Amino acid sequence: MNQEYSGSCHCGAVQFTVLTNVASAVRCNCSMCERRSAIMLAGEEGSFKLIKGAGVLSKYQFGTEVAEHYFCSHCGIYTHHRPRSNPKIRRVNAGCLDGVDSTKLEHAWFDGAGV
Ligand SMILES: [Zn+2]
Repeated sequence: MNQEYSGSCHCGAVQFTVLTNVASAVRCNCSMCERRSAIMLAGEEGSFKLIKGAGVLSKYQFGTEVAEHYFCSHCGIYTHHRPRSNPKIRRVNAGCLDGVDSTKLEHAWFDGAGV
């Protein structure tokens, strides 16, 4: 079931809200996600709202440079990204969300390395 969550990076400079469902949890096996190792949740289209931190977010792009990966330039934590597979949504780092224990989430694997 969709629920609105608040999220933040580790230092608190970046804060956001998103409407998402813990059942959407995935990890991805692409060259970047393998290193990042975050469990990600899919935000509903248009639901991601950056509350704070536009000035501190850094963007990382690679490969086709379609996806936009954002992280806090102060504490280094990945907060969210705009996926290549669906640029209309944002995926968020489950570990950043209040009220979500990402260490206990069942998750699927997205074959980012194979697409
Ligand atoms: Zn931070």
